[in-house]
Amino acid sequence: MIIAIDGPAGSGKSTVAKLVAKRLGFAYLDTGAMYRAVAWRALDTQVDLDDDAALTRIALSDAIRFGYQAGEALPSEVFIADEDVTRAIRRPEIDAVVSKVSAVAGVRHALVAQQQSIGGERDTVMEGRDIGTTVFPHAELKIFLTASPEARAARRLGQNATRFGEAAQNQRREEVLADIIRRDAYDSGRKTSPLRAADDAFVLDTTDLNIGEVVDVILEQVSVAPPR
Ligand code: C5P
Repeated sequence: MIIAIDGPAGSGKSTVAKLVAKRLGFAYLDTGAMYRAVAWRALDTQVDLDDDAALTRIALSDAIRFGYQAGEALPSEVFIADEDVTRAIRRPEIDAVVSKVSAVAGVRHALVAQQQSIGGERDTVMEGRDIGTTVFPHAELKIFLTASPEARAARRLGQNATRFGEAAQNQRREEVLADIIRRDAYDSGRKTSPLRAADDAFVLDTTDLNIGEVVDVILEQVSVAPPR
């Protein structure tokens, strides 16, 4: 079974997708981390971000791998070309360029093929922007999470403070909000697989819900999802 969880930045996808995967004993795939890893590699190797062919080469040939902390059921580490980029891919420098990289058709093509192959192996909760529309259009359950931009900025700020501590304290709420709005516009407006809810997705506005409530709604949907 594939559970597709799509939605814009800060909608709570990652937190919720991981909890749902844990509760169901499913695998978990963070497809955004894959686009972030390619963006990181492009910056690290000083690839011109307007060079679609060079970006596509990275996606095709630099292997992305997920790692597990001891005793953990879900992966929490990300590697590209054997480099541990778990923390680096969450930095604002990557936020600033990832949408440009992910809009390249060749990059998407390469990563979508990998995602389909990973999801074909076992029951998986897969989170991203185009899982229900492109990667697994026949997913048994499609969830599209939304929330107001202000709520999403507040959540992202909280995540960054946890991840980066002191360094993130200076990040201003307005900057995070501006980044989220800019990235959503870019992701929604791109030609290849734009961010949008699949016609048969269950759309859930999480602005006024806590994480436990969102997880419960999704588990409820799982229990009534028709087998395909
Ligand atoms: O989910 P996250 O915010 O980490 O995703 C980072 C970026 O990766 C998004 O802004 C989007 O440009 C891209 N992305 C995508 N398709 C996906 C997942 C992420 O285009 N399935």
